[in-house]
Amino acid sequence: MAAKFGGFGGIQIIDDGAAAGADALPAGPASPRDGATGSPERVVIIGSGPAGLTAAIYAARANLEPLVIGGYVPGGQLMITSEVENYPGFPDGIQGPELMELFRRQATRFGARFVDADVERVDFSARPFGVWAGGTEYRAQAVIVATGASALWLGLESETRLRGRGVSACATCDGFFFRGKHVAVVGGGDTALEEATFLTRFASQVTLVHRRDDFRGSRIMRERALSHPKIEVRWNSEIAEVLGDEVVTGLRIRDTRSGEEHDEPMDGLFVAIGYRPNTAAFRDWLEVDEHGYLVVHDGTGTRVEGVFVAGDVHDHRYRQAITAAGDGCRAAIDAERWLESVGLTEAATASAW
Ligand code: NAP
Repeated sequence: MAAKFGGFGGIQIIDDGAAAGADALPAGPASPRDGATGSPERVVIIGSGPAGLTAAIYAARANLEPLVIGGYVPGGQLMITSEVENYPGFPDGIQGPELMELFRRQATRFGARFVDADVERVDFSARPFGVWAGGTEYRAQAVIVATGASALWLGLESETRLRGRGVSACATCDGFFFRGKHVAVVGGGDTALEEATFLTRFASQVTLVHRRDDFRGSRIMRERALSHPKIEVRWNSEIAEVLGDEVVTGLRIRDTRSGEEHDEPMDGLFVAIGYRPNTAAFRDWLEVDEHGYLVVHDGTGTRVEGVFVAGDVHDHRYRQAITAAGDGCRAAIDAERWLESVGLTEAATASAW
């Protein structure tokens, strides 16, 4: 099953059950340059999904020797994705963990170093900035935050077990696999409405399951979904269980008013109940918007000079591996140019990239 990260969405950092595939990543030179005592890193990249690793490739090729603090479970949401069919350059598709391994190997080749630990906190009050991960303090002249966003899940055991086997959080990535099938989308916001409408391109029927009797999503999206002949809505309904041993075969749907349950045959379930950007460590320092995403200014910059942002941690619009990768490239170029402008690195030649 394909997915972007995006939805499964940057590293978008991995959420809970995402440990699968972490072993596949090459270790790379693992040790930090110094911790808090020696000279600071020029660039620390936080996050190791497509945005963080692309930033690492570009920063490494500009001779910045970036240190990537990639999380205990590195690789981002693509690590919980099987087949990726929408990443350019792989006409036959590629497994998500394999794609991330290639990114990481490429960054390592040019001198990026990796620490597989979660960032606990940062101090952006003065340069060099402080970044704490795995009990060690790192100092950095510039930081690129690429921690992604995590798709929210219902929290059912059956949902977790059948992820990638009919349960998905990304219609853009996985809709293709449901040609001629009957699928359900759970949620009542713009994401759910958009995913349901998108899925009508492939599915024979789309059932929207929403826990209330009114959608939260915008009027235009509501009208589009409600008027679509392939979309039917189960109001006041929630998923009690995803049915199936090896693949999804149905859903147990509970009426939220009466509590009554019934089973419906179904080939897939798209969970679209929102995303949580991974910003906990940065909220004291960086601006967040009304949905909790980091705010960028002037390209990939933030209100803290020397701190840059890439990928789904600020982008709730596109949420694709390819857009996150492009963003990582932009952040690395912005960071390199900023380091140069403040005299912390020599001018890169155009060929450095
Ligand atoms: P959202 O607006 O927070 O909606 C989440 C939906 O999931 C709500 O309807 C909520 O139900 C439901 N939900 C939450 N937890 C649930 C649970 N445990 N079980 C069942 N249902 C649950 O999230 P979103 O749709 O991802 O949108 C996030 C933001 O991005 C919004 O501002 C949206 O407008 C924006 N967005 C825009 C576009 C676009 O413009 N093209 C596309 C996607 C998203 P309740 O309604 O009962 O709370």
